[in-house]
Amino acid sequence: MKKKVVVFGSFVVDLTGRPPRLPIPGETVMGSSFAMGPGGKGSNQAVAAHRAGADITLVTKVGRDVFGTVATDFYKKEGMDTSYVFEDEKKETGCALISVDENTAQNEIVVISGACGNITSEDVERSRSLIESAGILLLQLEINFDALCKVVEIAHGAGVTIVLNPAPAAQLPDDVLRRIDIVTPNETEAQVLTGVKIENQADAERAAKVFMDKGVKEVVITLGSLGAFAMNQEKSELVKRLSVEAIDTTGAGDAFNGGFVMALAEGKDLFTALRYGNVTGALSVTKLGTAPSMPLREDIDAMYEKAYG
Ligand code: ADP
Repeated sequence: MKKKVVVFGSFVVDLTGRPPRLPIPGETVMGSSFAMGPGGKGSNQAVAAHRAGADITLVTKVGRDVFGTVATDFYKKEGMDTSYVFEDEKKETGCALISVDENTAQNEIVVISGACGNITSEDVERSRSLIESAGILLLQLEINFDALCKVVEIAHGAGVTIVLNPAPAAQLPDDVLRRIDIVTPNETEAQVLTGVKIENQADAERAAKVFMDKGVKEVVITLGSLGAFAMNQEKSELVKRLSVEAIDTTGAGDAFNGGFVMALAEGKDLFTALRYGNVTGALSVTKLGTAPSMPLREDIDAMYEKAYG
């Protein structure tokens, strides 16, 4: 039986312009192209898990504006449940203003979290029974911290498995970390949370031990070109990055988390779920964009079979 997955997190609209070089402060540079699309780590991870075949419900918040309909239109097209997409009376839908240098691919990003940074205790209460009914709860750090703490408290109290992707990088109090079952940072986020600079598998092991000493049960660290690493009480393992033709690596971490929780929800162990995350992340970098680049289950299964079958 598949466990139900709840993702409680952010939605923002990504507004991406491509200039020939990034402007210096005060300067205006003419760009050659513009794209608008659904983004936000919570939303991206929910879409990834949904396309990977998980039974998921996303809880997020948008404004009463045209950007809010970008979210709901996209979820309806995807066949995702929109009953927990709350609307803020006053705050605008969050957005990310992204400039990507056409020549160097360097970027500059301003994120305005808007409505999803204004999740109230009433919003959390309206989601209580949904959270309590979940098998797995997937969280990130793009919503307001007071709401995150309340969500963690409810899920922990109900015995729900809590997976935290601690992104973007931020410090977290120990009393939040000790309630987390599985953390899934990338190497930078792991360094911020543990103080361990990660350059190899031994460093990843040291960082994972710091998390476990703080009460986290299982640890996954994505290691960029090295691959992905997991550790629990019994063992640790590094799986190599799969070789694909990478076109756009934005959203790779979100894809990884979506594929990873899908596998956990289907009862796979930590190290098998790590491989599903690795496959989902690899497939997502072969297409442009974040949410639109998330792979479908049949492609995930085909690549999994080829790589690990
Ligand atoms: P983030 O997007 O948070 O920086 P990573 O860059 O570590 O995260 O990528 C997350 C995962 O996505 C990796 O562990 C790997 O599974 C996959 N991935 C990322 N980039 C590539 C790539 N170029 N080729 C294959 N897999 C990739």
